[in-house]
Amino acid sequence: MENRVYNFAAGPSTLPLDVLKEVQRDFLDFNGTGMSVCEISHRDKAYDAVVKEAEALVRELLKVPDDYCVLFVQGGASTQFAAVPLNLMHNGVADYIVTGNFAKKAWQEGQIYGTANKIGDSSDKVYTYIPDLGKLNYTEGADYVHICSNNTIFGSRYAEFPKCKAPLVADMSSEIFSREINVSDFGVIYAGAQKNLAPAGVTIVIAKRELIQNPLKYCPTMLKWKVQDENGSLYNTPPAFAIYVACLVLRNLKKLGGVKAINEIDVYKAGLLYDFIDNSKLFKNNVEKKYRSIMNVPFVTGSDELDAKFVAEAKKAGLVSLKGHRLVGGMRASIYNAMPVEGVKALIEFMKKFEVENG
Ligand SMILES: *Cc1c(COP(=O)(O)O)cnc(C)c1O
Repeated sequence: MENRVYNFAAGPSTLPLDVLKEVQRDFLDFNGTGMSVCEISHRDKAYDAVVKEAEALVRELLKVPDDYCVLFVQGGASTQFAAVPLNLMHNGVADYIVTGNFAKKAWQEGQIYGTANKIGDSSDKVYTYIPDLGKLNYTEGADYVHICSNNTIFGSRYAEFPKCKAPLVADMSSEIFSREINVSDFGVIYAGAQKNLAPAGVTIVIAKRELIQNPLKYCPTMLKWKVQDENGSLYNTPPAFAIYVACLVLRNLKKLGGVKAINEIDVYKAGLLYDFIDNSKLFKNNVEKKYRSIMNVPFVTGSDELDAKFVAEAKKAGLVSLKGHRLVGGMRASIYNAMPVEGVKALIEFMKKFEVENG
């Protein structure tokens, strides 16, 4: 489409064009109901089918075991920072590994409800690595260990996951459906959908059922995963449109060959960009290679002025939202599942030209 740009935003972020067209085509008449999906009751059979299909696709694509629930909830990943302790903190103590801004926020939220021990921290090098997992001091009797698997702002991610006695809880907002995972290695996985899946408004929670039966007594009903599970994510009005789009994106992903297939493409895309940056005299990425994200690629020129010029000129060339997060500056290319290979290639061509002109 002529007036579509390549959108490198970190979230909300680009969605598959085929899905957007499908949404547009069916927007006024959803499945022959004569109503938009935004107008229909969430108790209507036609809509119920959407929630059920979305759940089935999550289960299929991530191979979610039957003793785990799959929930669609609201409030963003940030609300889950509170829901995690409110559902799991029975002994009043949990471990947190702080590898970025969102991991830190989750840890801070955990402190409201009990003892939240920070057992790992990579802030000494601006979160450009993941602490050595073999050297962590897990707390005996901790209710869970919380991690953020991909650090959206700093562009680092876990190469492998901690092996701990307490259930592992992972915020996977910016990488869910981009890499194969073994769900049974986790107690809980949650992810705001607006990075790699859907429009803002829905958050996925995948939780082992036996862990969520006794939420703390002051846990708000809406945050009780058990209640959401018992009601099939329809305890109250769900974010109907966002779940609908998520369902279409997941259908699309299944058609592409699933998580393994998209991971190969994601690794290829990220590899192109990192290779170029590592061989460039102008651009630099500071993340330790082993921990580099395949979703969020931050880079700098070393000059704030040149960075600003880059962002402005890229925008004129149809490559938008490349400004880095305010905490790190520079640039960041978020290259989620929906970013086509051509988009990454166009960015690299633009970077080459910029380097020749400004290097
Ligand atoms: C964006 C993001 C969040 C915050 O998500 P909201 O839905 O805005 O609350 C939390 N964690 C990670 C890893 C993110 O990328």
